[in-house]
Amino acid sequence: MEKIEKELERTEQQQQEPTEPSNGNLEEQVRKLRDHNLRVKHLNTQRRRILRLLQGKMLQYATLEERLHRIGELVLIAELHSGVKTLNQRLDRMVENSTCSICLLPWTDNGIHRLVSLRCGHLFGSSCIHMAIRRNHRCPICRRRARHFHVRRIYSPSFLSH
Ligand SMILES: [Zn+2]
Ligand SMILES: [Zn+2]
Repeated sequence: MEKIEKELERTEQQQQEPTEPSNGNLEEQVRKLRDHNLRVKHLNTQRRRILRLLQGKMLQYATLEERLHRIGELVLIAELHSGVKTLNQRLDRMVENSTCSICLLPWTDNGIHRLVSLRCGHLFGSSCIHMAIRRNHRCPICRRRARHFHVRRIYSPSFLSH
C-alpha cells in the first residue's frame, strides 16, 4: 500500500514539472510539445492503473477486515456458548446434589425431610428414605439392602441444603 502511494506521488510530481522555456526553432518546439503530450498521456495511463490497483487493494483490505471481524465474532459466540453449557451442567449438578431423588424436592436442614444417607452413601430426605425402606428394604438408587438403623444424619455444607 505504501509503495503504491509513493508511486502515485512521483507521478503527480512528474506531471507538475514546468515545461522548459522554448528557445529552439518551431520544429524543435513542436517536437517538444508532442513529447510532452505523450509523456502526459503515459503518466495519466500509469495513474489510472495505480488508482485501479489501489482501489482493488482497498476493497481486498475491507473484505479481509470484515472477514476477520466475523471470525472474531464467531469465536466469541462459540466461547460464550460453551461457557453457558458448562454453567448449565454445573447448575444441573448442583440441583441434583441438593435434591432428594425420591420426591425430587430439596432436603432441609432440620425437620422430617432433613438430609440423611444410607450405608451406600446415597443421600435422601429423611422421611422419604424411611418410607422407601419400609416398602422394600433397599436403597432406591443402587438397590443395596437398607435398614432403618443405617440411616445417618448428614450435616451438610450450606450449598447442599436449603
Ligand atoms: Zn424426599
Ligand atoms: Zn444407594
